[in-house]
Amino acid sequence: MTLRNRTSKGSYSGDSILECGSWSVVGRQEDGTTIVHPLSCKRWSCRSCAPRRKRKLLARLDGTKPVSLLTLTCRPSAHLDPDSAFFTMSASVNKLFKRIRRVWPHAEVEYFLVWERTAKGWPHAHLLLRAPYVPQTWLSRHWADLTGAPIIDIRQVHTAGQVVAYISKYLTKDPQAPAGMKRFRSSLRFFPAVLPQADPAGKLFTTWTMSRKSACELAAEFSDAGYTVHIDPAGSIQCFPRGHPGAPMYDSIALMRSSGRIVA
Ligand SMILES: [Zn+2]
Repeated sequence: MTLRNRTSKGSYSGDSILECGSWSVVGRQEDGTTIVHPLSCKRWSCRSCAPRRKRKLLARLDGTKPVSLLTLTCRPSAHLDPDSAFFTMSASVNKLFKRIRRVWPHAEVEYFLVWERTAKGWPHAHLLLRAPYVPQTWLSRHWADLTGAPIIDIRQVHTAGQVVAYISKYLTKDPQAPAGMKRFRSSLRFFPAVLPQADPAGKLFTTWTMSRKSACELAAEFSDAGYTVHIDPAGSIQCFPRGHPGAPMYDSIALMRSSGRIVA
């Protein structure tokens, strides 16, 4: 990543007046170092944030151990329009899982769902399941009863790569679900609970403020003021005062300037 990329890639189609990454969060630590995080919009429609959100989600999915992949379809003639089909299918997914839990009351039944809008605009729901084996005929019968659509597909998961391929192609396409509906969701315990982390001993006291400058501008200013600047691959910046024992050997900004990769 170059700093120039960082700022020029930040545009997004949201309705905020702020361009993604044009402001920063600045943390001043008691040992004189300063941390700068770009203030990003975290929207799936943002060319800068979407790939990062996708990477994080796929990393979270990595530990969830789904056993099967389920695709639920829709019968267009049963709905007024594609968007109402999305909302009806979403409610029907909840009902379907209630029925599954009623039949297998002691089994773990958890799912992760991502929506696909087909070329003609109608919804398909793709689900990763951690559940007992549910016969295709049972699912087809109940899905038809709930939505009028008998076509479903269920298959076993053989490799983790299969899961990633199945899910990831729907995550950064144009918004698949209608406005007001999340592009993916999961049942309550599909992801393991995240426990709050205790503060590591010896953590430095940090004062956080917000700056109306981009991380790129601030990094250049710190470099000019004699700080050694380190840019990590995620786009955050650490600025070390002269003589700080943690300062890296090379200043990222100076290296980028000398290689012509930055115009600050
Ligand atoms: Zn963004």
